[in-house]
Amino acid sequence: MTENILQNKYPEARKLAESLQKKGISDQRVIAAIAAIPRHEFIDESLREYAYLDRPLPIEKGQTISQPYTVAYQSELLQLKQGEKVLEIGTGSGYQAAVLCEMDAEVYSIERFQELYRTAKETLNKLSYHPHLFFGDGYEGLPNEAPFDKILITAAPEKVPEKLKQQLKIGGWMVVPLGGRQGQKMMVIKRVSENKFTETEHGDFIFVPMQEGTEE
Ligand code: SAH
Repeated sequence: MTENILQNKYPEARKLAESLQKKGISDQRVIAAIAAIPRHEFIDESLREYAYLDRPLPIEKGQTISQPYTVAYQSELLQLKQGEKVLEIGTGSGYQAAVLCEMDAEVYSIERFQELYRTAKETLNKLSYHPHLFFGDGYEGLPNEAPFDKILITAAPEKVPEKLKQQLKIGGWMVVPLGGRQGQKMMVIKRVSENKFTETEHGDFIFVPMQEGTEE
């Protein structure tokens, strides 16, 4: 059935999407988004032969574009409804932001490296994706744009960033890989009332650390 709804503009992206489905990703909107996005545009030309393999790849500034399975897994945990306002921390290459745009979310994304912010902006514009991009420290969130339906953190903090919790709508949640450099647990932190949050655990992952402040 999926066969019919997956775009075929980028056959390699479509194959990647189908392979993620076999690995257990079941949200069809996530699968369709992966199938529609040219991942090779988000990485250096020298790495293009690896663009559609299910693995993380290096980008500038010692950072990484996450493994497609991880992007899909985090996107699935968001359970996005159309038009929901989502804040991503860690724009990186911009690939995850493109996935969220494909899923018809209203996307806000923050990156702490100015160079990555600039490159991601160019790539996303070129592909006609228009998330709201910000250069800044994700630990601060975006108080002027809050509250958000969902928050997605794509770098690993050691503790749940308190200011981001406060920028969630009641009933909304945050998907965050929580822990130190040895590895993290994927957590979903849901704001059930003004002051009450619940947590659920969703497996082990490895991300680059979430760091304070900004850099060139
Ligand atoms: N979502 C990205 C993954 C990039 S890796 C993608 O699809 O390519 C994580 C990114 O988080 C890195 O670019 C890193 O610089 C950024 N990051 C780490 N700490 C941050 C912070 N406090 N605020 C904003 N971005 C941060």
